[in-house]
Amino acid sequence: MHWSYDGCSNSVCVMAAHENHQRVVVVGGGYAGVAATNRLLKDSPHLSVTVVNPREVFVERVRLHQLAAGNSTATVPLRDVLHPDARLEIASVDTIEHADRRVALGNDTTLDYDYLIYAAGSRSRPDVIDGADIHGWSVAEYEDAHRLREHIHGLAAGSVVTVIGGGLTGIETATEIADQRPELDVMMISSDSIASTLSDGARSKVLHVMDDLGITTISDAAVTEIAEGKIVLAGGQHLHTDCAIVTSSFVASDLAQRSGLATDADGRLSVDATLESESSPFIVGAGDAMTVDEAPLRMSCQAAVPLGTHAAETVLALIEGAHPKPLSPKFVGQCLSLGRRKAVFQRTNSSDDVREWSIGGRAGAVLKEQIVSSTVKFALNPKRGFTYSWS
Ligand SMILES: Cc1cc2nc3c(=O)[nH]c(=O)nc-3n(C[C@H](O)[C@H](O)[C@H](O)COP(=O)(O)OP(=O)(O)OC[C@H]3O[C@@H](n4cnc5c(N)ncnc54)[C@H](O)[C@@H]3O)c2cc1C
Repeated sequence: MHWSYDGCSNSVCVMAAHENHQRVVVVGGGYAGVAATNRLLKDSPHLSVTVVNPREVFVERVRLHQLAAGNSTATVPLRDVLHPDARLEIASVDTIEHADRRVALGNDTTLDYDYLIYAAGSRSRPDVIDGADIHGWSVAEYEDAHRLREHIHGLAAGSVVTVIGGGLTGIETATEIADQRPELDVMMISSDSIASTLSDGARSKVLHVMDDLGITTISDAAVTEIAEGKIVLAGGQHLHTDCAIVTSSFVASDLAQRSGLATDADGRLSVDATLESESSPFIVGAGDAMTVDEAPLRMSCQAAVPLGTHAAETVLALIEGAHPKPLSPKFVGQCLSLGRRKAVFQRTNSSDDVREWSIGGRAGAVLKEQIVSSTVKFALNPKRGFTYSWS
């Protein structure tokens, strides 16, 4: 059945919809997609919710630098974090045929929906540096990090690993590898200053640990090319490397763009403050894959989970014929690991602007591990009945 407002009062439509089990398709079984699914099914057993994801495992993306360095699998079975009533379709969505409210899957089948939650996440941008698609490595997605793990595992002592990008992902990656494999020469190259989004205090904690781990840092230098065994800087200087890891640029999945939905320049689905797509009243966005036009949010696990919850609440409101609530972001901080023994937690206000207060060292590492593991153990655990929300 397709939802229709034609020729019936709202209450009649709602009854008809409940009788016929509204079908919600969730595209992507990451942080946002799982949070959305579990919130949808928490109190609404009449819903039919299908999660489409290319893998049977839930990828803890925030641990992909650990996977690359060789100290974590960064996965748990997807079934363990999904509500037991959720249906799981292991496939990729090729296109969202939004005029017909249908998705075409890579396995040549289609799924009809009444509402769709778009939570397809993000990936690295291969075209950002010449040669990066052939000679560069990445930690952005599970398969990337897995390939990198094999490569790093095979590197001999004294090999040079170069991390390109001095942002949070680059810092986590460089410190994890240096901590795990002290016999490698780890170098970081950043086009601006390293850890530029942190307060002065937090930044100096990060630089101190990087120094202790023996990481060579080059700031304010742009990499223009990656080739076999070397990287080239904007001034023409060549530097030897045995592994160039690009962490400098993330973009959204291109699925929304290729489906003809309105997006921003980075391919993020354009949504309003209630997370409804500007192109279709039956599509709601969540996580890295979307952007709220009035207030773009940092791509993060921290935002993805409550965005997933909020997307589900918007769909539930639309099904009930009620007005969905606007999102009210409540960021608390930026937390980055610096290997297994140290980390920095940088306090922010609810809009994600940094405050001077930060905590580092061993205490920071304990806090960071608590945050990461409790996301899977509590926030995404359907047995706990707990929902993390910004509502
Ligand atoms: C190394 C690393 C460290 C990070 N550390 C932190 C951190 O400390 N704190 C923090 O807040 N954030 C961190 N992040 C960012 C964080 O991981 C992301 O912001 C978060 O994963 C976004 O969640 P999501 O659900 O939107 O997307 P994802 O977790 O990427 O999930 C999207 C899912 O959709 C699937 N998908 C994609 N396309 C399709 C399709 N066409 N059909 C079906 N399924 C599809 C993907 O395979 C994936 O399973 C880190 C990221 C990386 C790479």
